Formats: sequence, structure tokens, C-alpha cells
Amino acid sequence: MTNNYETVMGLEVHVELKTKTKIFCNCANKFGDKPNTNTCPVCLGLPGAIPVLNEKVLDLAVTAGLATNCEISRIGKQDRKNYFYPDLAKGYQISQDENPICHDGYLDIETSRGKKRIRINRMHIEEDAGKLIHEEGLGSLVDNNRAGTPLIEIVSEPDLRSAEEVLAYLQKLRAILTYTDVSDAKMNEGSFRCDVNLSVREAGKEEFGTRVEMKNLNSFQSIQRAIEYETARHIKAVESGEELIQETRGYSQDTRKTYSMRSKEDAADYRFIPDPDLMPIIITDEKIEEIKESLPELPDARKARYTEEYGLSNYDAEQLTSSIEVATFFEETVKNGANPKSVANLIITEIFRLSSPEDFDVNISPAAFAETIEFVDNGRINLGSAKKIIEIIFENPEKTPESIIFEEDLEQINDRTILGKIIDDVILHSKKAVDEYRSGKEKALQAVIGQVMGKTKGKANPQLTIDILKEKLG
Ligand code: ADP
Ligand code: MG
Ligand code: ZN
Repeated sequence: MTNNYETVMGLEVHVELKTKTKIFCNCANKFGDKPNTNTCPVCLGLPGAIPVLNEKVLDLAVTAGLATNCEISRIGKQDRKNYFYPDLAKGYQISQDENPICHDGYLDIETSRGKKRIRINRMHIEEDAGKLIHEEGLGSLVDNNRAGTPLIEIVSEPDLRSAEEVLAYLQKLRAILTYTDVSDAKMNEGSFRCDVNLSVREAGKEEFGTRVEMKNLNSFQSIQRAIEYETARHIKAVESGEELIQETRGYSQDTRKTYSMRSKEDAADYRFIPDPDLMPIIITDEKIEEIKESLPELPDARKARYTEEYGLSNYDAEQLTSSIEVATFFEETVKNGANPKSVANLIITEIFRLSSPEDFDVNISPAAFAETIEFVDNGRINLGSAKKIIEIIFENPEKTPESIIFEEDLEQINDRTILGKIIDDVILHSKKAVDEYRSGKEKALQAVIGQVMGKTKGKANPQLTIDILKEKLG
């Protein structure tokens, strides 16, 4: 982002709810089944079929609202949003126009620039459409298993200003939805989908620029790239005086570019009307209290506990609480006796490299991970060897840290005399780097340390190596 412009973004996030059955019928709400096996007259939109709202949908929507500091509506209604699409058999989607279940909430996010509050405008319930499958030679096929899957749509205010903030917001939202068991929130299975609305304005201006809405963003990486590409496109247009149009754009992972899909339809085009088949929604104070009481410890509370109990930084605590799986893995490892700060460091640097926090799937037990960390902390192995052990166990979960230390000969060299001799030899053969270091070039020491590591197959105690080198080189 250049200094002269500011990117303004607001998100619409669609989340599939974790219910046993669909929103208006008794069909199973399941991902990955054989096409068109979970269908009935209601979710196929056959004439005369009557929808009945699944009560669990309301409970989960209220749960999500309370967990994101929203106000909860006491009375709601559901509306037909009319549009034509081959995977929308009825010709309309049942959604909510006015009176969303939840409104006026917020989330606090943590970025490299500190904490920031992002306001949530509204959160409403609706049904998902079916899915089109484009098959070479067969044309386009419709799978209605997804039709009638319960969704909540969460709409933020245009408070986001960078890709980093957008990702932090999505991560926090995902964390909350998985902690509360509202959703699996899996981006790769489509149970957590995000549209990014984006505009650019000159720094210091009040007024927003023309916005585009970006769809088909299937990963955090795509979101980041789409934001970068689109921001650059807007700045270029503003500078050259070209007029931007309000439209819906897609993002292609292949070209890494956004492309125009359609010009933006106005709300008026949907001809919202209240659905006459559905009863008004009434949410009682008792219901809200009951759900409030049943909320688990939320990510922010857990994060505060990590900073207090374990002395972790805000940033580290945020990373570790970003999903329930990560948090559980962290706590289990600490329970096995490892030092919390060491555990945090190694999860964030090493484990996240092997398995992203979004799809956290680790092939090492907390006990083995804790043992590896303790070996580092008590000097038996160095950090490089710990990383090697973790990688090996990811591939061969039956191995133990102990057996790998033996097989790979990873025992750290902590003996001053032995290390001293190796270092003498290295100094003798690294005349250039040694001279550079002696003439004041601090960095040259790295090359010498590298030589020592090479000679010891990475087993030298790094701190001891530095100490001895500095002594010897004066
Ligand atoms: P629609 O339903 O037509 O997409 P909404 O009013 O629900 O319209 O807004 C959708 C999203 O667009 C919201 O998240 C909002 O914060 C965001 N938004 C609105 N105006 C702008 C703008 N000028 N730049 C960026 N985002 C915007
Ligand atoms: Mg929209
Ligand atoms: Zn059905």
C-alpha cells in the first residue's frame, strides 16, 4: 500500500452451521455424500412443499451473535430473495432482509500494529443453494445435497484497512465459530466462505471510493493476493482518471488476477418479500440467557489467560488461540511438562510450517513434542535437531525422540574441550572470514559459526560456539 492511498474493506462471510439436519427439512446436513442423496420435496423446491424452521439453527445463530458481542433481535422474519440460478430450484432463496437475528456486534483483532476493533453490522440466517458440477463431456450437473444447508451470513462494517487486518479478522471469526461448535468453518470444504468488498480512497478523504465485491476466494492466500491485486488496480484507475464501476469480481488462482463477473445488482432487483409459509421468529430473554450461560471459554478469554498464566506475548497468544485444535495441542504439551514459552515458539515457527493453523493436523503426540522441547531446554540437543526430530516424527509417527537422537546421532556437543579443538581447526581454515571479523565486520562471524556447524553435523551447542569463538578471536 502506498502512503497516498487507503484501502477500505468490509467482509461478507457465509458460514455453514453444524446441524444434523437442513434448515427447513429433515434431510441430513452432510458434506461429501453421493450427489442428490440427501434431498426431499422441501429442499428440492417442489411446488406445495412447506418449509419448517429447524430450531437448532436459531440456537447456533444466537450463539454466534453472543460470541461476537452482537445485539440479539427478539422478533425476526424470513424473506424470499428472488433470483434465477440453475442450482436454486425454487427460484428464490429464503434469507432475511430486515430484522436479522443479530446486529451491531464487534470483534477485536491483533495485528503487528496492535489491537483493533472491527464492527459487525449484522448476522442473518439463510439457506444455501445447491451446487453446479461442470463435467467435461456431460455439461453442467446439479447436486442438491447442499440445497437447504443452514447458513449464517456475517456482514462487517467497512472497518478493515489491510490484508493483514482481513486475515486477522477471519482467523478470529473462525476461532470463535469453532470454539462454540457453531461450524466446522473449513475453507477448503466451503463451510467458511468470504466475499471481500474493497474500495480505495486518497489518504485523508472522508468519502469512500467505488467498491467492488470479490468472490471465489478459497484460501487465505487467495484473499491476500486478490486484495493486493485489486488495490493496485484501483490506485492505477484513480491516478489515470479512469472510472471504476461497482461490480462483482472473481479471483483466479491460475492467473492470480481478478476478473469481472457481473455488474452489481441492487437490492431492489431481488424483490424481497416475507415468506408466507414461515412463522415469525420469536427469541425470548430466557433463551438468550440460557445460551449465554452455556458459552465456552472464548478465544479472547483464553488469550488473556495465556498471557497471564504463561507470560506469552499478545501476538503469540493470539496465534495459539486461533483454533481450538491449536490451543488444545499447546495446552496438552504444557501439561506434559514442557516450558510454555518454548512450546509456543516451536509451534509458531515449526509446527505451523508443517501444518497451517487453519487446517491443523499434527502427526506428533503432545507427549513426544514435550519431550523434544525438554531435550532442547536441558541442552541435550539444539533447536536445529529438535526441528529435525519433529519432521521425522511427522513422517514416521511410530518413532520416538529418543530413538531418533540415537539413529541420527543428534546428541549436542556441549564439551568445551572437544568444541574448542574443532573451532581451532575452523579458525585456521577460515582466514578470510576471521580477518573480516577482526577488522570489525560482526556479520563475518556467521560464516565461521556455519563452518563449525558443518564440521559437527549441526550438533555444536550454538551459544557455546559463539562464546568460544569470541574468546579466541578477541
Ligand atoms: P450488499 O448486500 O449489496 O453487498 P451491504 O450494504 O450489505 O451491500 O454491504 C456489503 C459489504 O460492503 C459490507 O461488509 C460493507 O461494510 C462493505 N462496504 C460498503 N461500502 C463499501 C466501500 N465503499 N468500500 C468497501 N467496502 C464497503
Ligand atoms: Mg453483498
Ligand atoms: Zn430436504
